[in-house]
Amino acid sequence: MVMDETQLVRGGSFLFHATGSLPQFTPEESSEEALAIAEAARDFVAGEVMPRDEEIDHLDLELNRELLAKAGELGILGIEVPEAYGGLDLEKKTALLVLEEMAKQASFSTSYGAHTSIGTLPIVYFGNHDQKAKYLPKLASGEWVAAYALTEAGSGSDALGAKTTAVLEDGCWVLNGTKAWITNAGFADVFVVFAKVNGTHFSAFIVEKTDPGLSTGAEEKKLGIKGSSTRTVILDNCRIPEDRLLGGKGKGARIAFGILNIGRFKLGASSAGAGKRVLEYTLKYAGERTQFGKPLTAFGLIQQKLANMAIRIFVGESMNFRTIGYLDEALARTSWESETGGADKMKAIEEYAVEASMAKVWGSEALFATADDAVQTFGGAGFSAEYPAEKIYRDCRINRIFEGTNEINRLLIAGTFLKRCSGAEGLPLQEAAAAPLDLPQDALLRTVALAKARALKVIALAQADRGPKILDNQEAAARIANLLLEIYAMESAVIRARRMAEASHRWSGLALDMATVYAQEAWNRIQAEARMLAAELASDAVLDTLVADLLAMHAPAPVALSALRQTISRILVEQGRYPLARA
Ligand SMILES: Cc1cc2nc3c(=O)[nH]c(=O)nc-3n(C[C@H](O)[C@H](O)[C@H](O)COP(=O)(O)OP(=O)(O)OC[C@H]3O[C@@H](n4cnc5c(N)ncnc54)[C@H](O)[C@@H]3O)c2cc1C
Repeated sequence: MVMDETQLVRGGSFLFHATGSLPQFTPEESSEEALAIAEAARDFVAGEVMPRDEEIDHLDLELNRELLAKAGELGILGIEVPEAYGGLDLEKKTALLVLEEMAKQASFSTSYGAHTSIGTLPIVYFGNHDQKAKYLPKLASGEWVAAYALTEAGSGSDALGAKTTAVLEDGCWVLNGTKAWITNAGFADVFVVFAKVNGTHFSAFIVEKTDPGLSTGAEEKKLGIKGSSTRTVILDNCRIPEDRLLGGKGKGARIAFGILNIGRFKLGASSAGAGKRVLEYTLKYAGERTQFGKPLTAFGLIQQKLANMAIRIFVGESMNFRTIGYLDEALARTSWESETGGADKMKAIEEYAVEASMAKVWGSEALFATADDAVQTFGGAGFSAEYPAEKIYRDCRINRIFEGTNEINRLLIAGTFLKRCSGAEGLPLQEAAAAPLDLPQDALLRTVALAKARALKVIALAQADRGPKILDNQEAAARIANLLLEIYAMESAVIRARRMAEASHRWSGLALDMATVYAQEAWNRIQAEARMLAAELASDAVLDTLVADLLAMHAPAPVALSALRQTISRILVEQGRYPLARA
């Protein structure tokens, strides 16, 4: 598929383009302005948040508010709020850099994310002028804190199954129902609440803490992120003025899921940010702890873990910044000045729904693997609350559950992608799968090209053989998602590493080693997924042809990964941290 430069990259289209032929933003290209704001966030986290780590984790609601207000003074609550309403209206890239910093304290980062993202953004994108003027300046300054109330005890993944109702009575909406698991509920001033008008039209409302009939339950006793507030929100004949309906009657699904898309991009970023801190303290411990007369860092299997932690950060960042580059490009073509500005922006974000879910799934699982590697590297100390690895292991577990569970997101990745590949304007899955293989000479590019060819063949077969019904087989759908996210991850890392080499970046050798290790291992997973997906699908005859086809394709030459990981680990030990950290 050929694209001219004025065209936007279509969501989900990465599988159809030769590696490197699409624009790709990388963290190395961050603007001075974005880096300056990230630095302010870093100083804030180092100076105000981390010294109070323990206090935060004991769930101090006042402290949460106080820290949010301080973040507001620095401007980092208003990054995505239009200037006209007291914000900075900066690119999403800046929000991503800031989130990476915030992620160093998981509980506070959850409060911050719920406030700035899912709490505030529904009003940013769907509010009318009066609603924006009333709420956004206070939310951007930190004077007020926001929460997002979608989930109920009986409807989590199935969010549209909500039972909360809204009825218009004498010029007021009367809300009844109970929302569950609401972050920031213990101290929020403003709640974006989803309810069904007359029990049918799913809609969003702005509810204030002081509105009659709103109360909150007790704090949940949680496995992790213990310093974030999570409560039920009870609406008992809660009366709010008629003008608190957000985005129009029946627009709730668009708001709820559109906003979750943004939350998903961001979860990828906070996972990478948290990974950097975990790597730092794990390197320190592994350098200090000796066994058999040597530091742990001298052992190959510890080096493997340290290297893998850095590789996951590098790959995650590569994916996140690539996606956010697409998104900012699309958003730059919209304007708040236009009457449809908010809707246009939301449409631009929705275009990258596949990439948003991939960032969420990949990032959350990568961070969990990193937390696990940290616990293991600490040994018995990893199991002790006296040391930091135990906390991240608990804190990061939630990332696979909220913002849509990883199961739901995998189904979304496969479903949205296949939908994009149908219809006259659809992505050309069948044509691409049938196209002759054009293999680059470069070993890394060749690995990506082969992986794409494998995935195209087998996903095209799934589409031809079953059509949308393939999604009824959830394991098969998850395999499609795994193929897509492994390829996106691998390709994003490879392109970034090559770009760094072209720019003679100080760490380009390290970047190429990290991309090579990831690509080699991802290749094996892709190969396995392709074979298992094929087995789910075809009749014996078709399967024989497909397997013969797949086997006839070349495989990338294997690379000895231990030597690469030793080199990566040596640099990590020398630097004492992820070397590509921005400060
Ligand atoms: C600490 C915390 C903070 C939260 N903050 C907020 C918040 O601020 N606002 C808010 O609205 N919500 C919030 N949530 C709720 C969260 O988004 C939900 O917990 C999540 O969406 C999952 O819903 P559930 O818990 O009802 O699980 P369920 O939907 O019951 O799912 C249980 C399991 O079944 C799987 N499953 C469900 N449906 C399917 C399907 N169709 N196919 C395959 N598998 C399926 C799920 O993947 C999961 O593994 C929070 C939750 C927690 C724990």
